[in-house]
Amino acid sequence: MENNVFSFNARNTFQPYFSYDHDQQLCVHYGQSFTQSMPLAKIVDEVAKQGGNKPCVLNFKHITQDRMLCLYQSFAKAIEDYRYQGAYQLAYPIKVNPNASVMRALKECADRHDLVFNFEVGSKSELLSVLSLTAPRNRIICNGFKDKAFYQLANLAAKLGFEVIMVLEHIDELQVIKELSQEAEIYVGLGFRTKPFHDDLHSVKFGLSLRDIYDASGALKDLALADRVVLLHGHIGSQLKSLHQVERHINMMVCLYGNLLNDCPNLTMIDLGGGLGIDYEETENPRFQLSYYAETIIKSFSYHLDLLKLPHPVIMTESGRAVTAMSSVLIVSPLYQTAERNITVQTSYDESLQACWLNGEINLADLVESTSVSYLDDQKSYKLWLNFSLFQSLPDHWGIGQHFPLLPVTHYSEEKTIDCQLFDISCDADGVFKDKTGDDYVRIPCTEINDLAFMFVGAYQDMLSSKHNIIGRTTAVEIDLSTEDDCVISVEQAEDYHALLCHYGHNPLQLMSQFQRLAEFHLDESLTADEQGLFYAMLSGNPYLQIESTPCSQSLLLNRRAIKLL
Ligand SMILES: *Cc1c(COP(=O)(O)O)cnc(C)c1O
Repeated sequence: MENNVFSFNARNTFQPYFSYDHDQQLCVHYGQSFTQSMPLAKIVDEVAKQGGNKPCVLNFKHITQDRMLCLYQSFAKAIEDYRYQGAYQLAYPIKVNPNASVMRALKECADRHDLVFNFEVGSKSELLSVLSLTAPRNRIICNGFKDKAFYQLANLAAKLGFEVIMVLEHIDELQVIKELSQEAEIYVGLGFRTKPFHDDLHSVKFGLSLRDIYDASGALKDLALADRVVLLHGHIGSQLKSLHQVERHINMMVCLYGNLLNDCPNLTMIDLGGGLGIDYEETENPRFQLSYYAETIIKSFSYHLDLLKLPHPVIMTESGRAVTAMSSVLIVSPLYQTAERNITVQTSYDESLQACWLNGEINLADLVESTSVSYLDDQKSYKLWLNFSLFQSLPDHWGIGQHFPLLPVTHYSEEKTIDCQLFDISCDADGVFKDKTGDDYVRIPCTEINDLAFMFVGAYQDMLSSKHNIIGRTTAVEIDLSTEDDCVISVEQAEDYHALLCHYGHNPLQLMSQFQRLAEFHLDESLTADEQGLFYAMLSGNPYLQIESTPCSQSLLLNRRAIKLL
């Protein structure tokens, strides 16, 4: 354990969780005020000892918990500063990262600090996952399209003591509620999802128009269910570019809340949904600060509520990305480390010779031998193949051009950089990682290329991932640094061939008997023990390349020298 050494001050985006030490190693910080640090390379070594190969995702539980705590603290401060009379609560949208370990980490943090904490779900399976994880203590807010089975499950859970709120997403849900109310007592709370009516947010997918809400509240009154309405919901999108949109939406929701209070006396909560971004592009814009976000929201609520002399409701947000993104780091190793391959070779073929070759007059040896080769003294010559699949591990980069910061795990340098083109191992030309401006060359601040870390991959990546080329999940590592001087690591191996092939309806074991039959038929003998062993070892392996852990730095360094000499 070393003391905290921030040699990385220029890059506040990663503070207080990550920085470089004096040995130019990327470290994670933990402990009281994050004064302790541990190199990621050390963790990766430990993972290897436990049989976990790269690529791997390191999930830091203490970062998730700290982000959650900071969010609550930011709101607590704003509530005090503006003398707001309601409370703040997080409703964690589990689609952002539904791993049980993340959900448990948040719950544990809330319990430890006595925070009221809720879950948000958008499908029946998400509801089931929350119900299987939590005690009735946490409220569950249900968004998304809902059929009768969704309502029945939620109503049963509510009957058993869970506090479940069904947010009306579509006016037709009223029909389901009506049917259910004729068959059973309604235990769930109800809410309305608002749709922003401003021009710039016109084409939103979800929510009820003002007219729909007016009609729905009337219909619920007729069903004698208006007193079950407890929440007004308004998620207006992800990674909002400015909080202006949120402020305008607050204005609208406060007016609506005031109007609905007459018929819906138990309406005491306003949920703003998600939308708080993360500073993936290292802009250091204040809009990514939790304190700025909390203050803007509380200020806006206070202003509009007091103007209309309304009681202050509980304010919720469903900040998923902001809470989970920073907790996970994807570690990948480069492939193809031989010097020759990394030097850009300018090959110029003599055109007349080329024509001869195309006419079949000379052979390949003649063509190649009479070709001049020149080496370019060009830093932009690095082509690196990284042992991972973009489609599996960074699907948002491929799908929506989402940028992720890329840092060297070792050999960081503030002065020197290496520009590389970065390709993954999928057999797809789109498997390319670009820099934040969309340029093909990514600048890496280091003196040598070894393992690289894609930062902030804790939100959305795992669940949006695709098994393109039948390449599955990477090794996943849960890291608990919350106990002093003790690092608890649990490694989940990468998805193996057996699981992957079965996923697509193949039967890998049948292949074994087929090989056996072929051997007997064609060769008149059975497979040797070695051949069988190869097969079984393969099935428990995974599609990532088994590369030697010899440092590629050596060859790249050689390569760089070679380039300089030319
Ligand atoms: C996706 C989603 C969220 C999460 O948004 P973030 O931008 O990740 O905070 C919250 N609420 C709802 C209803 C969502 O659909």
